[in-house]
Amino acid sequence: MNALPSNLPGHPNPRKFIYQSLADAIRPPERLPFTQWLPRNIVLVDGPSAGEPWSAEGAPYLVEIAECLSDDHPCNLVTVRKSEQSAASILALSWCLYIADREPANTLYGVPGIDNLQKLNGQKLQPLIDAWQKRIGRTVIVPQTSRSGRGSTAYEKRFSGGFLSLANANAVMDLSMVTARKGVKDELSKWQEIPGFGNPERLFFGRFTAHRRTKDWKILEISTPEVDSGDELAEAEGHCRIDRSFRKSDQRFWNCICPECATTFVHAEDRLKIDHAHPHRTVYPCPACGHDISEAERVIALSLAAGAHWKPTCDVPDHPGFHIDAFISKMMSYEAIAEDVIAAKTEIEKKAIANLVFAKPYKFRGDAPDHVRLLAHVEKHLKRGHVPPKGLILTAFADVQMRGIWLEVMATAPNRETWCVDALYIDGDTADHNGPVFQQLKRETIDRDFPDAFGRLRRLDALGIDSGYRAHIVYAWVRNNQRAHADTGRDLILATKGLKGWGRPALGQPALVDIDLGGKKIAQGAKVWGIGTWPLKVTVYGDLRQEVPPPPNVPLPPDGYCHFGDWCDENYFKQLTAEVLEDIKFRGRVTSQRWTKTRDNHFHDCRVGNVALTDYLGLSSTTPEQWVALAQARGLPPELTEVTLFTPRPLALTHASAAAPGEIKKKKAHERETAPQSSPDAGWLKGYDVKF
Ligand SMILES: [Zn+2]
Repeated sequence: MNALPSNLPGHPNPRKFIYQSLADAIRPPERLPFTQWLPRNIVLVDGPSAGEPWSAEGAPYLVEIAECLSDDHPCNLVTVRKSEQSAASILALSWCLYIADREPANTLYGVPGIDNLQKLNGQKLQPLIDAWQKRIGRTVIVPQTSRSGRGSTAYEKRFSGGFLSLANANAVMDLSMVTARKGVKDELSKWQEIPGFGNPERLFFGRFTAHRRTKDWKILEISTPEVDSGDELAEAEGHCRIDRSFRKSDQRFWNCICPECATTFVHAEDRLKIDHAHPHRTVYPCPACGHDISEAERVIALSLAAGAHWKPTCDVPDHPGFHIDAFISKMMSYEAIAEDVIAAKTEIEKKAIANLVFAKPYKFRGDAPDHVRLLAHVEKHLKRGHVPPKGLILTAFADVQMRGIWLEVMATAPNRETWCVDALYIDGDTADHNGPVFQQLKRETIDRDFPDAFGRLRRLDALGIDSGYRAHIVYAWVRNNQRAHADTGRDLILATKGLKGWGRPALGQPALVDIDLGGKKIAQGAKVWGIGTWPLKVTVYGDLRQEVPPPPNVPLPPDGYCHFGDWCDENYFKQLTAEVLEDIKFRGRVTSQRWTKTRDNHFHDCRVGNVALTDYLGLSSTTPEQWVALAQARGLPPELTEVTLFTPRPLALTHASAAAPGEIKKKKAHERETAPQSSPDAGWLKGYDVKF
């Protein structure tokens, strides 16, 4: 040991540091199963029990999942289909720390989207690591001393015997450089096809190739569900990924014990007896004896002490799958579930309840809104071509046909309320990108001044053009007319194409394509932006169904409400509602769904395109302060630019859970935090400074 340097520059006790490091690396870890390790190591860092040690009491259903994750359990794959407020996410992160401490292996942790990746490290993992190491008085994760090159980084945690690598599952670069033996597929239902590379799950599993022969790999899949494609075998493209995997597992459900007759039962959402007038009186009738199980009885019925347990419903010996819903979560209650169900009116809200409360995928209803009702709701005071006071974002979308161009100009408020500012058809041959039709398109869009409510003139913030019919002509026109947005420097004009399927972002990253114009080729001369039309169609239909509350309520339009002027005629509304979502059947069984047009649908496409553009402009990621800055820049009077006006309405409810000490602040299911569907570089308004 004389060879060891007697001083490390800058370190107070270099010998002790080196010997301790060696000892830590050499000493075999004490044998301790994950289930016993959890309460001795993990300190909860958020939620009602923040600061307290992890306890099986809080979430008894997690114990058996933890058993499956230890190296001595023979399974390779564990699937958890979960609701929110289930405490299951903390188990996934805790498992990674257990791996670092006791069963070291290279571990890959995939999350969808760069925003989620940053949030995962900054708000969840690093605080959990800090609280853990403080509690055990040891350093297991090598600190972030990045200069040496051997320390941890934000997205790679190094430890003796391996590393934990955090990766954006929706980007191919992140998944192609690591070989792993253990992995977590977090929020799996929001993993999206990667353009040019395909299925992100296949790319993820590619990192485990070295361990496939020896079968000593282990992967935990965990997610709230998303969309039910209608395929009874769950195999259709776009079917919720966690549901697909759960249905291939042994499908374990948590069996509760009736306090009256001691029969075991699994909660079913349609059995809940909701008291609409008094949600706190909501009960669950026992399927065996009919006894109305109260909230206080529920908490006992689901406990380990009462004998509650997991029971598989399918005979798949080597793939455990667990279903965790709000019924078995101690952070929820019958009352909270009832309130969520009562509050859910729109398709989007109902989907949120299914996904986040009942942990089930949601099958969208795809019938079109009634165009006659929409026509009856036009507002005579709106002026064609004028931007209304709250319309801070102004977009236009053009649907280019073989003959003629359909165009809608739309204004959007921070609460997603929209106004059709203009809707028109430009007739003529579209074969020439310099021809009169495209010249008029320019006059009606990027060269047009739109008067606003404050005596100013506004210009478009973005123009989208569908390139489906006349691709190369559209590319050429966009190329010749492109300009940068005056405030952001980003492209003002976007050539787009619609993409089928669920699970796609509103507007993904652009692809570079070659232009061929009259024989003259320009390699990668144009950008094309894919629009994930299917989820947007559902959003548009949901918003079109919104109603202004009738008297005696305050007639305040709800978030997302759509306004139309009286120049919007029957043809406009017929086109706007011209698609329906249909089941596709093969040999008598439903295999998937598809959107089908029932008549001309150009204004439908224009509306979907406009909503996609608001996503490009960062509608979903803009902060109240940024809206204030934009409102001031747009010349809104001071009384309309207070920050509170742009803060999401305070709908959060307070529920007192029988299980948890004190009160839990809880939002309704559709308002809870989910992974943003926006493009990774959304945040159009980040350049604005707030001036008060
Ligand atoms: Zn009973």
